[in-house]
Amino acid sequence: MVKRRASEGATTEIDGVPSRIVSRFLQWTLVCHPSGKAPLPPKEDRLEMSFIRAYFWPLFLLIFTLATTVVIPVTVYHYGGSLGRLWAETTLELFVQQIPRPTCTAAAILFGWTLIQGLLQELVPGAKIYGPPTPAGERPEYVDNGIKCWIITHVGWVILGPMTNAIPCGQLYPNMGSVITTANLFAVPFCVFLYWKGRVYPSSRDAVWTGIFPFDFFQGVELHPRLLNLNVKQLLNCRVSMMGWSLSHLCFAQYQYENGVLSSGMIVHVSLLVLYLFKFFWWEAGYFASIDIIHDRCGYYIVWGVLCWVPTCYFSPGFTLVEQPMYWPASTAAIVFAVGILALWVNYTADYQRQVARATDGNCLIWGRRPDLIRAEYTTSEGVTRKSLLLVSGYWSISRHFNYIPELTLALMWSLPANIQLALPWAYWGFLFFLLIDRSSRDDEKCREKYGKYWDEYCRRVPYKIIPYVY
Ligand code: NDP
Repeated sequence: MVKRRASEGATTEIDGVPSRIVSRFLQWTLVCHPSGKAPLPPKEDRLEMSFIRAYFWPLFLLIFTLATTVVIPVTVYHYGGSLGRLWAETTLELFVQQIPRPTCTAAAILFGWTLIQGLLQELVPGAKIYGPPTPAGERPEYVDNGIKCWIITHVGWVILGPMTNAIPCGQLYPNMGSVITTANLFAVPFCVFLYWKGRVYPSSRDAVWTGIFPFDFFQGVELHPRLLNLNVKQLLNCRVSMMGWSLSHLCFAQYQYENGVLSSGMIVHVSLLVLYLFKFFWWEAGYFASIDIIHDRCGYYIVWGVLCWVPTCYFSPGFTLVEQPMYWPASTAAIVFAVGILALWVNYTADYQRQVARATDGNCLIWGRRPDLIRAEYTTSEGVTRKSLLLVSGYWSISRHFNYIPELTLALMWSLPANIQLALPWAYWGFLFFLLIDRSSRDDEKCREKYGKYWDEYCRRVPYKIIPYVY
């Protein structure tokens, strides 16, 4: 079962592919690393995993999350966003009839969008930048053109959508359910493909698999796969998913406007969201140092998550708001918007402090003072010792993930315009809450393993994970 490695430095040999042309084509499309196939780890390592971790959780989460992406559109379109009404009024037969079907329009939206974003990522000029070193000591490559692509995409929407009606962008809302179903039909096989590619044609030496299919499929094999020369995580996480989150909400607002009155609640919701995503692309280079990128592998959790979970769970407040508008007085709308902007600013500044401290090797001012730093060392899986900085100033001296507080506050502000009596629009906020609690623990584990005594020192100086004196 253990896969053979091609000799280091040699041109990749693709076993079992007779033709050189086919081999070259695969090399170009799958961008495989010269070190060849990902080897299976020793048997002892595989046996360490419990049945629950290896089989139960991946299968349970797979079924639960897939079902959620069906329940949310049905509830929004047929039950006014009310899960209570869905429960009381539906039958299994009726529910199955109401599941949005995949359509050619939905497939065109999905693949057209992916193609446009792929072309922008590839063609819009931007500096080559490199993410933090991976456990195998490689530096994943990205193109720093996020903000330009954001501007081109949004200006394009204004010109082709509301201004000229060249593309009926307002029609995204009625097609959104079918887009989600179509995304599911594409994303699940695509995750199987990534699993196969990771094992057989990995793009870097960081591919790891256990031999337990449900676990490997869920967690992913490759850290930074490339296809057609594109960095898959940058394309799917940032350009298809985050950019799509921003633009689709403008299309939802357009639909509301075209079908009545654009409500003040929708204006607050969409403005905060679009600014949040503008900030995301402004800071995109920083995202390449976040856990999604440096730690999580390209499996169902990340890939299906950004392609299907984001357009259902993350969209839940905006999706519900389209047909359940909230008409706030201007003063209420202004206060909620202002609190949201403040939270956005704090979140950005917290992430920026960490980024600037590292980029300048501590030669910067944080809150008007030279920063306190821990100069940490860690060893890569290749045995190389590297240096890193842990900031102990600014927001990073209050708690180890203070940035999660404004993140949650902002999401609360953009969820408030939704009908408070409905549970569905709160799906995103509830999910984010548990995600960030879990993430703070996962990140702690990851950093303790990476930095050892240096992380213990940081925890001694900054003892709380998120909220000082509480957690
Ligand atoms: P964090 O911003 O919390 O950063 C974690 C990483 O930063 C650690 O793994 C470590 O990486 C490094 N680090 C930790 N402590 C320090 C320190 N004191 N000084 C310098 N570096 C440190 O990670 P996230 O990826 O969770 O969050 C990034 C942003 O994304 C945040 O703004 C967050 O709110 C947002 N977010 C949004 C989500 C959403 O779904 N809306 C979900 C999750 C996050 P290293 O190995 O480099 O040392």
